[in-house]
Amino acid sequence: MSVRDVNGWDQFAAQVLGLQPNGRDPDGSLFLRMDEYHHRFIVHPTGKDDLAYIGWEVGTEEELEAMAERLKQAGVGVTPGTSDEADARRVAGLIKFADPSGIPSEVFYGPLVVFDQPFQSPRPISGFKTGEQGLGHFVVWVDDFDRSLHFYRDLLGMRISDFVKFSPAPEVKMRVVFFHCNPRHHTIAFAQMPRASKRLHHFMLQLQSLDDVGATYDLCQTQEVPIAMKLGKHTNDHMVSFYLRTPSGFNVEYGWGAREVDDSIWQVQVHTAGSIWGHQGTL
Ligand code: FE
Repeated sequence: MSVRDVNGWDQFAAQVLGLQPNGRDPDGSLFLRMDEYHHRFIVHPTGKDDLAYIGWEVGTEEELEAMAERLKQAGVGVTPGTSDEADARRVAGLIKFADPSGIPSEVFYGPLVVFDQPFQSPRPISGFKTGEQGLGHFVVWVDDFDRSLHFYRDLLGMRISDFVKFSPAPEVKMRVVFFHCNPRHHTIAFAQMPRASKRLHHFMLQLQSLDDVGATYDLCQTQEVPIAMKLGKHTNDHMVSFYLRTPSGFNVEYGWGAREVDDSIWQVQVHTAGSIWGHQGTL
């Protein structure tokens, strides 16, 4: 992420979200842990409150090279990451490119994991659901829905979970597409909004227990952390969650209990509502 107030983020990430600050680089970039990885987020003090880039993990150098080849064949400009860039990200290797909306994107392999320094949340929570499901999910605004759908499905190899279609106003039709690349119901979702003031709509952290979500909901109210949407349960991933405002203006969804995707039996669905119950408020 790219932020204006990195100290505010340090405090918010640790004392509200329960992420573990794990040092800073000389340029001020803050590393945030949520499991055995050295970090899952890097918060860069670059003066703009938005997504800085997306980092996708693959298992091996061969998979990284195959991905680079597939993107090049499709006419996407791919730049190999330098060893200094790999060091800055704490990975063994990476490639860089842009998605169809110009969102800086990277694919890496070989993240630094620190089992020898166990994850310790600054808050008394049971922890985050990561592992093969990655860090969580995020939702972005894209310039062109169809071009982005083609890119993420046919080039990056993500699989569609479902669509949510709704009309925020009588003459406005919105479509959101949700993609998975592991058992997590969605890792990325997007809708078309070419002139959005920020690319990042929200990112989601999934907790191990409903009590983690409830206790954090209480904490937000006692500490007056702005809540964008109250507790609710989503139609598509069945996540019980609420949304809180980050110091950067975009939101973070804090949730528990999502259903998972089994590709051998999963069938794409369409929903016309975002929530089964709750989630009152505006994002
Ligand atoms: Fe979400």
